[in-house]
Amino acid sequence: MSDHLPEPLEPIAARRKMIEQQIRARGIRNPRVLDAILSTPREEFLPPERQGAAYEDRALALAHGQTISQPFIVAYMTELLDVQPHHRVLEVGTGSGYQCAILAQLAPRVYSIERIDELRLRATENLARLDIRNVELYGGDGTLGLPEFAPFDRIIVTAASPSIPEALKYQLADGGVLVIPIGTAQEQTIVVARKSGERLTESGSLPCRFVKLIGREGWREEDVVEE
Ligand code: SAM
Repeated sequence: MSDHLPEPLEPIAARRKMIEQQIRARGIRNPRVLDAILSTPREEFLPPERQGAAYEDRALALAHGQTISQPFIVAYMTELLDVQPHHRVLEVGTGSGYQCAILAQLAPRVYSIERIDELRLRATENLARLDIRNVELYGGDGTLGLPEFAPFDRIIVTAASPSIPEALKYQLADGGVLVIPIGTAQEQTIVVARKSGERLTESGSLPCRFVKLIGREGWREEDVVEE
């Protein structure tokens, strides 16, 4: 028996294994979503000391107490979003830019808002390094959306909110879909909201735990207790 540790997998092989064991095995089947994940090097969105864990089945820490979501959760929310090739997409919570990079392969134009400037700047660098050009990043409070570019066919919020921000409901196009984790600070459910005329129909799905959405229509900054 060899006492050598196995060689780490090449990133593309590691991604194939992640897709089979963590994503397809849990029921994600949309080929456009799976292809986008296969083409996106998650390690490029992580600080150097965490790149070795890029294809593990978990969320990983970014700067400022924020996280890049678990790959399965990214796949699950992206599948629920059901992005079509003509859609205008808004993400709230840019973080590392990884979710943006996936969305950029599914839609011609993606807008994303991040409240922490340093994360937005790093995400800008990450996307530029991979030559992803159809994403526009904005700083500020994403609970207010981006009225100047509304309506959006799809909106994804990648931080936990007590409810769906009114501005995002308003900026969602007729026939549009919004995916957001809703609940308490400790646990949430991924909610899908579909807009038809003035009506929004909500359905809950998977339990999850995200960092907080902090802003005028999310949690207040003073509610944030570091754990
Ligand atoms: N989608 C990200 C990725 O692919 O790396 C992960 C997002 S991380 C779980 C949540 C992000 O939401 C954090 O970067 C946090 O700073 C940001 N955030 C929280 N409240 C926000 C707000 N009101 N507007 C914009 N970004 C916000």
